Amino acid sequence: RRQRQMCIRDSHTLISQCRKDFPILKREVNGYPLAYLDNAATTQKPKSVIDAITNFYENHNSNVSRGVYTLAEEATEIYESGRDAVANFIGAEDSGTIIFTSGTTESINLVASAWVQKNLKKGDRIILTEMEHHSNIVPWQLAAKSYGIELVYWPVTPEGRLDLALLEELLTNSVKLLAFTMVSNVLGSINPVEQITKIAHSHGVPVLVDSAQAVSRMSIKVSEWDCDFLAFSGHKVYGPTGIGVLYAKKERLEEMMPFQGGGGMISHVEKQSSTWAVPPQKFEAGTPPVAQVPGLKAALEYLEQYGIKEIERHDNELTEHALNQLTEFPDLELYGPSEIQNRTGVVSFNLQNVHSHDVAQVLDESGIALRAGHHCTQVLHERLGVPATVRMSFGIYNDPSEIDRMFSALDQARAIFLH
Ligand code: PMP
Repeated sequence: RRQRQMCIRDSHTLISQCRKDFPILKREVNGYPLAYLDNAATTQKPKSVIDAITNFYENHNSNVSRGVYTLAEEATEIYESGRDAVANFIGAEDSGTIIFTSGTTESINLVASAWVQKNLKKGDRIILTEMEHHSNIVPWQLAAKSYGIELVYWPVTPEGRLDLALLEELLTNSVKLLAFTMVSNVLGSINPVEQITKIAHSHGVPVLVDSAQAVSRMSIKVSEWDCDFLAFSGHKVYGPTGIGVLYAKKERLEEMMPFQGGGGMISHVEKQSSTWAVPPQKFEAGTPPVAQVPGLKAALEYLEQYGIKEIERHDNELTEHALNQLTEFPDLELYGPSEIQNRTGVVSFNLQNVHSHDVAQVLDESGIALRAGHHCTQVLHERLGVPATVRMSFGIYNDPSEIDRMFSALDQARAIFLH
């Protein structure tokens, strides 16, 4: 027990010192130390991730799965060991169920094209939620237009949650898929994936989980949760841009047509037709994001050294600190749950009578980087009744003093716009 306590204390101390691992955080913006509060858009990269990519290019660069010379074999081994690391990180039993894509957006497009094409028909329905990112709406709209499918929306409650009882009502016989986000990139709410999956499966409906905002903040257990598809992006988990993951259950992979045609995804090509490689290669046409894979693996290892429990604790601490202050100001409107339970460090608000872009611009003058706009969630903003919001989103390197700086800088916005 003492050893475990020591372990917890160590990771506590480690995370409070992690800022030094991120070279970009040494820079100043407009004469102030950078307070980077836009982690829902993308995260900064630790030196170990940057080094892993550089090391690949300096020492092992080659294409994968093609050559038989030493470099090609090394590159292929590095690539495949990245696949194993991802499988391990998200609790997938078989690394053959991990497909490398360019990001969450491509992962979802892959399913909306390759799976829908073979498994859905005119009159079928797909359930989405009102809190989805555009990348979990528009691909389904494209599929809906092509195949005569209807999209049905699971409404968001006034508290920014999903009501499970309503889902039961929506799951009619014609529903063939439920696609939902694990964490809202605006409201910060966490949706109970395991429970939702159980309900959908009890109606014979497969689920796709958009975990773009979740993988860096909480533990993911695809096999235990039994979800059919899960998507995320490398750049939101402190890894490189240009790489993402689609996890799909083996039986779902077998139900899918190829997504794109090209090198690497075939077994044999003749003039008029071809046969396919087995998954996951069947879905990785062309040269994949080779150098990004060791970068992503290094990012996952970086997170593992703190442990996801410690990362969650830190995220909760920052969220609570932000929510406590936000609710003190009568002219600040919060969008999303005001309580900390089942909520993460994505906190959106508006300063009454001031446009969110004006707020973000004034904050930038104090070195505070955060996002204003609709955050690629126009359906949700329609529901919230506002065109745009200001969003702070926390990462492992943030500390409460940066949130305090944000609130002090808001006073300047008040002074400028509401004098
Ligand atoms: N889903 C959610 C919930 C997101 O927050 C984002 C990125 N903001 C995406 C999907 C799309 O991710 P990417 O642009 O990396 O494909």
